[in-house]
Parts: sequence; C-alpha cells; structure tokens
Amino acid sequence: MTDNETLSDSTQPAARPGVLDIAPYIGGESKVPGVNRVIRLASNEGALGPSPKAIEAYKALSHEIHRYPDGGSTALRAALARRFDLEAERIVCSGGSDELITMLVRAYAGPGDEVLYSQHGFLMYPIAAKSVGATPVVAPETDLTADVDALLAAVTERTKLVFLANPNNPTGTYLSAAAVSRLHAGLPAHVVLVIDAAYAEYVVNHDYEPGIELVRRSTNTVMIRTFSKIYALGGMRVGWAYAPDNIADVLNRIRNPFNVNAAGQAAAVASIEDVDFAERSRAHNDKWLPWTTEQLTALGIQVTPSVGNFILAHFAQPPERNADAAWEYMKSRGILTRKMGGYGLPGALRITIGTAEEMKAVVDALSQFLGL
Ligand SMILES: *Cc1c(COP(=O)(O)O)cnc(C)c1O
Repeated sequence: MTDNETLSDSTQPAARPGVLDIAPYIGGESKVPGVNRVIRLASNEGALGPSPKAIEAYKALSHEIHRYPDGGSTALRAALARRFDLEAERIVCSGGSDELITMLVRAYAGPGDEVLYSQHGFLMYPIAAKSVGATPVVAPETDLTADVDALLAAVTERTKLVFLANPNNPTGTYLSAAAVSRLHAGLPAHVVLVIDAAYAEYVVNHDYEPGIELVRRSTNTVMIRTFSKIYALGGMRVGWAYAPDNIADVLNRIRNPFNVNAAGQAAAVASIEDVDFAERSRAHNDKWLPWTTEQLTALGIQVTPSVGNFILAHFAQPPERNADAAWEYMKSRGILTRKMGGYGLPGALRITIGTAEEMKAVVDALSQFLGL
C-alpha cells in the first residue's frame, strides 16, 4: 500500500498531504550499551557545558514551577537586547530555534508554495516545509558551501522562504556578509530570507555577520539564534529571533502564548549575562577546532574547513575504512559522532568539538581505526 492509499483510507484519520512524506528527524545518539562514560560528540552541544550561573538560575526556579512562565519572555528579551544592542520589541523567543523554523514556515508558506534551501542545509527546513504542505526546493552548493547564484536561480514565483544556515550545519562553511547581502538583494521583496545563525558565537572571521545588519535594513529578513550550542542549554529548548517589526508581529500572533518555559528563560538570561563564560567557550573552540582539524588531516582524513563547533570528516570508500566503519569503531570505544547519510554525505561524519580529553580520544581512536 502506498502513502496515497493510506491517505484515502476512510477507516482512519488522514494527515494533510505532505505529512507522510516527512522522514522524521533523528537526533544524535546519546548512549552506548555497556559503556559507562560515553563521549557525546553527535549534537554540537557546547564543549564546556552551560554556565554555572545558568545552572544556579535553573535550580533557583524549582519552587516556582507551578507558575506559568512570562509569556512575553520579557527579561530574556531585555537581556538579549542589552547584550547585542538590539530593540527588545523586535526579539521573539521560542522553544528552541526549531520552533522558529516551523513558525516561519507556518506563517509564510502553504500548499503549492516553495521553501528554498541549499543542498546540505539543516534537515529541519524540508521537514517544516512538508509539514505545511509546501514543497522543499534544494539549490546545489559549490565546495560544500551555499552558492548565492544557485539559490537565486532556484527562486520562482512560488518561493515564499529561503533558509540559509550561516555557518551551515553539517558542513561548517559560511557565507561572508557581502555574499549574504548579495543573496538578499537578489530576492523579491515578498520572499522571507531566514538566516539561521545557530553557530554565530563561534565565528571569528572578520567578513562574517550573523544577520543583524540585514534585519535592520529590510522588511523581509529574519535572524534566528539558539541557546543550544555555545550556551549549551539544548535540554532547556530556548531560541530567539531578531526580526523586522512586520515579521515579529506575525510570529507573536502565531506562537503559543507560553512557548518558552520558565526555567529555560531564567537559565538563558543567566547565560547571556555570563559574558566571560561564553568567551571561554569560544576560546576553547578556537584552540580545539584547528587542533582537531590538523590532527585528522595528518591521519589522511579530509576535513572541510569549519567555523562552527564541529567538523565534517570525509572517509575513504573501501567498506572497512569508510564513514560507517569509522562510526562503528568510534562507537565501540564509547565515542558517538553523527552519520551524514541524511544530509546526502554518506562518506562523512560530523564530529562535535568537545573537551581536550575528548578530542584526544577521537584522534587516538581514528588513528587506531586506520591502523596507523
Ligand atoms: C542545532 C541547530 C538548530 C536548532 O537548535 P534548537 O534551538 O536546539 O532548536 C537550528 N539550526 C541549526 C543550523 C542547528 O544546527
């Protein structure tokens, strides 16, 4: 029986068209049977964990969990506005930035519309598009990097949103501010450009800009950010958008009234105010990202140059040396990394930058895997 037949089966409820085309998102694994100390490098969670101040704020909330949270995330928006010099009324907080992706698609696209993203872009974009019956459209990349001309060439009159993860997950590559600006300039004014800057805090390159400038000077750009990566609060589910008034207004109309839980708001405020801790996390990455890249390259593993807190490592073809075999071998040593078949990169593994000890364990395991 095909999915279409399931849909027309009158004996059970039918999901909307498109829903059964969704390949459910599969997160990184977190457990290895029989291994006590698992090294978790499959989900890009910040290497140093959350700020101790965030943990304190979370604990301090325990006597208040019978209370509804502030539906407007007022303190969090104020803290973000102070930290990044933004207007609080243009910030919309969310239950993780995943929620913003689905809200934006719900607000601006529907059946017959197209949602454009680049070839190895984040998998939540096609999932969100299909969930509203819209058609995900993929533009090819060049050197595992979003290609502005290819994206612009793929825009049609049905295009409603363009998603650009910058830097991109899982490739770790990025577009300069000038390139993003050129992408924006080539889009019709009614197309929403979503700049997903989940890893912005890690980027040190001077030609990079997370999207704030573009949001300020347009009515069709929105930047989305997360507390799950450098702030390491993935378990709390907090994200935020910086948007022009018109888009902030739309998001505030469709979001659930209490979409960010109280503990998440408190922990996020403490994180954003602990500037020193975020700086230490970034400095850690600045050291161990190049170190890991160099070590793997020395082992003969090709690594795509990354500006995020993860690397994409490319393995050879022979079955005993390929990415799947490397993944299994590392797992047998208690190291969890991410397979990339779902992103069209079956020959690669994505490895998060963890602690010094964890990165040494990765290099050690891969060196033994390759028999070096
Ligand atoms: C991890 C990630 C997200 C999702 O983050 P949450 O805030 O945890 O939902 C969004 N976009 C990209 C590119 C990511 O890598």
